[in-house]
Formats: sequence, C-alpha cells, structure tokens
Amino acid sequence: MNFRQKIAQFMYGRNGYDAFNQFLLIAAIVLMALGMLLSRVPVVAMVLSILEWTTLIYCLFRTFSKDIYKRQQENAWYYTKRQAFGRWSRSLKDRWQQRKDYKFFRCPSCHALLRVPKGKGKLLLTCRKCGNRFERKT
Ligand SMILES: [Zn+2]
Repeated sequence: MNFRQKIAQFMYGRNGYDAFNQFLLIAAIVLMALGMLLSRVPVVAMVLSILEWTTLIYCLFRTFSKDIYKRQQENAWYYTKRQAFGRWSRSLKDRWQQRKDYKFFRCPSCHALLRVPKGKGKLLLTCRKCGNRFERKT
C-alpha cells in the first residue's frame, strides 16, 4: 500500500476538508498575521495566539472527525451565515451607489429597510412589510 492509499484509508469515514474548514484556516492565518503586527502589545498578541490555536485545533478536529452528520450540519450553518453576509454586503454596496439619489431608513417596528427619494422634505413613510407609518425628513 502506498502513501496515498494509506491517507485515503485513514480519511475514510472522516469529514475531511470542507468550506467551513477553509474559512477556519483563513481565519487562523489572519489571526496569526494580526498577532505578528501587534506583537509589541503582549496581552493582545497572547489573546490572538490563543484564538489562532483554538481555531486551528477546531479545524483539525473537524477534518478528522468521524461524526460526519454533525460536521455537515456545521458546514450548512456556515453556508447560511456566508449567504447572509453576502446579501448584507451587497445591500451595503447598493446603498453606497444610490446614496446621492435615495435615503434609507429602517422601519422602527420591523427593522425592514426602506428606500426613499432624496430631497422631498418631510414624508410620511409606510413600511411595505408591516404597514407601520412614520415620518422622516428626506
Ligand atoms: Zn415595518
């Protein structure tokens, strides 16, 4: 049996390297870089080092874990968080691009985002999601 086969046999029935592990590994590298940059502040560097090693050990644990069902659930949780972050960052980018023509408000009762044309004075806004009405200066 060659080395590759031995590795394959060892990894059989284990979770392996997934998207969440990839994120954890990148996070550990970022923490390590931050720790190097902030090495003059011993307390911060120590906390970063602990976080870095915890992240790395968790990543290794997930790679070699045999509880694949649970690791897949964690990976699915990570995907939903990543999607939510993607939506949030796209919305932030859209708002930035439209900032000259529109004003954005949060509905006070349901926190939905409302877009209103700029420069229309005081308006009575109606939330499309929950129907709540509130006044804002545009
Ligand atoms: Zn609302």
